[in-house]
Amino acid sequence: MQRIVLASSNPGKLKEFGALLADSGFEVVPQTRLGVDDAEETGLTFVENALLKARHAARATGLPALADDSGLCVDHLGGAPGLYSARYSGGHGDAAANNAKLLRALDGVPDAQRSAFFIGVLVLLRHAEDPAPLIAEGRWHGRILAEGRGSGGFGYNPVFLPDGYTQSVAEMDDALKNRLSHRGQALALLRQRLHELHWQ
Ligand code: IMP
Repeated sequence: MQRIVLASSNPGKLKEFGALLADSGFEVVPQTRLGVDDAEETGLTFVENALLKARHAARATGLPALADDSGLCVDHLGGAPGLYSARYSGGHGDAAANNAKLLRALDGVPDAQRSAFFIGVLVLLRHAEDPAPLIAEGRWHGRILAEGRGSGGFGYNPVFLPDGYTQSVAEMDDALKNRLSHRGQALALLRQRLHELHWQ
């Protein structure tokens, strides 16, 4: 089985990637287990940051590396929190504070103007100098609720109502979320490309 390093240390994502890649023929090893620290995310777009993370992990381990960068873009806020989704309220990864700040920013904004999407970009580098990374993107459209509902998963799950559903993401079971989500879509595309290129 081909080992690849996963350039993420977010436990919520590790769980999702583990489930989504369970039957892929890859043994996915989180970078923390290999002693790799987090890359600096200095890019101005999700794809740039995913590339920086993958290259950092590939360089440090000598293994192929898979990285993702993701976030929530709210139309009424010009795409914010966007690249800063994890640290919207200041501290990194404080989901309760991030959600509270987002709900305040949209206070009084009618449903029709609360559209948003999650975006996830995946990058697979075969090695640190790979000039032709595989890149896959998924987007999950919906809107921001007036208040949070449910407790499943992580991040903005409680405040995001996907189009076509009556449950917030935090009220969905993992299997449904993995099928619909930005990360699920991006991984399906990546797996298709791997297959087409006979990498898998
Ligand atoms: P990243 O680790 O730099 O990709 O930061 C992504 C941030 O976007 C996370 O910390 C969450 O706040 C948010 N995010 C991304 N994907 C999801 C999701 O599936 N559910 C909830 N929040 C998410």
